[in-house]
Amino acid sequence: MGGGVVQGGVDSMDAGERSRRAEVGRRAAEGLVARRVSGVVITWVDTGGITRIKAVPRSRLEHAAAWGVGMSPSFDACMVDDSILKGRFCGGPVGDLRLHPDLDKLVVLAALPGWAWAPADRFDLEGGRHPQDARGLARRAVARLAADGYSVRAAFEIEWSVSVGPGDDFVPASTGPAYGMTRLMERSDYLRDVLDAVTATGISVDQIHPEYAAGQYEISVAAADPVSAADTAVLVRETIRAVSHRHGLRASFSPMFVTEGIGNGAHVHISLWRDGHNMMAGGDGPYGLTRSGEGFAAGILSRLPALLAIGAPSVASYLRLVPFHWAGAFACWGWENREAALRFVTGAAGGRAQTANFEIKSFDGAANPYLAMAGVLAAGHAGLVENAALPKPVDVNPAKLNGEDCVAALPSSLEEAVQALESDDVLSAALGEAMIDTICVVRRGEVALFDGCSAEEIVSRVRWKY
Ligand code: GLU
Ligand code: MG
Repeated sequence: MGGGVVQGGVDSMDAGERSRRAEVGRRAAEGLVARRVSGVVITWVDTGGITRIKAVPRSRLEHAAAWGVGMSPSFDACMVDDSILKGRFCGGPVGDLRLHPDLDKLVVLAALPGWAWAPADRFDLEGGRHPQDARGLARRAVARLAADGYSVRAAFEIEWSVSVGPGDDFVPASTGPAYGMTRLMERSDYLRDVLDAVTATGISVDQIHPEYAAGQYEISVAAADPVSAADTAVLVRETIRAVSHRHGLRASFSPMFVTEGIGNGAHVHISLWRDGHNMMAGGDGPYGLTRSGEGFAAGILSRLPALLAIGAPSVASYLRLVPFHWAGAFACWGWENREAALRFVTGAAGGRAQTANFEIKSFDGAANPYLAMAGVLAAGHAGLVENAALPKPVDVNPAKLNGEDCVAALPSSLEEAVQALESDDVLSAALGEAMIDTICVVRRGEVALFDGCSAEEIVSRVRWKY
């Protein structure tokens, strides 16, 4: 990407870029006066999926835009319990990074009066993009596809579970039937406030509804470019968390929040586009897939075991990723098949050129959404380049297949997924040695952290972290 073309999209911070950003920051800060904003929160998501921040007063936004705000790179190696590991490319007390707010994405936070938000791009002190900046890696994956004439539209579906009061135990905030009107009635003021606050940040909400488990809800938003989709995932979650807090509730986006029953997914909807056309519709392939749409999906499907180390990154992820939970535990695809890892969603006849997309069901809310996008785009791109073909679609519950019809289960542990990632050349090349190594260090650190723990212990220790 060319320097200075897209705010936040540059790979190096030269003098011209800094002065351009300073000017954008100065104007943005002026605009925040009338909106009574005192401070701007700058977020980034760490390797383990936790959103971490620095914040600046409005008066400091111009400086932060140009020069960034300091933050230790050691957080790349931070685990879910906040302890910091040491790897070849991460950890240790020495060094600094600069968080540059991407002011193209600046919004006033409706749920946190007096605060605005912008996602960070992380640069080093010499002005180069930090090799482990997940947002930068997602941008790069978008740029690689663009160089071949493709673009992607994506959205994260967000499921979350709501508990009553400040306690650490999970006390469901609603107990009516799954998807029941009772569940909306039980928490109608809360859900209205979530809807209003998310909408007020400029996000286009498609749906909001009760999910299957007691206290569980879901919000889905309009598709956007991959980096924006990841930004939106962060913004929606933090907005929900803040609204929940105001209502005396606690929100959990953890893959599992109780040991029994269904968990929280963060399914990724994704479609490939070329020259304004959706490659997931209007073709000669199965269910109207085009050749390139199929290649892209096949690239993702074949690399799902490795992608799980990114999209299902917690030890708790594997308590969720089991058959009969609609979590996508099988390495297969199928039209509207909610037990397949890749559910092909066409939408209704007449609208498919807009709506057709693949839903990656196996991913969950512990994933760093930028890394998830970077990985999925790289896998899809490889499938395009290889002109890969999808296997036969599965039109039954894959858990019920026998004999030679059986499809493989996805990794059933984090360690298994990490091994798949380590041996995947495509993902290693796309994410780079430093990022892959750090992912593996953090994942193995968390595997060791929970070694010998019961499901109950694992779930209760991560419940309020994501
Ligand atoms: N909550 C389920 C999961 O863990 C998904 C339910 C659905 O299909 O929306 O992914
Ligand atoms: Mg759902």
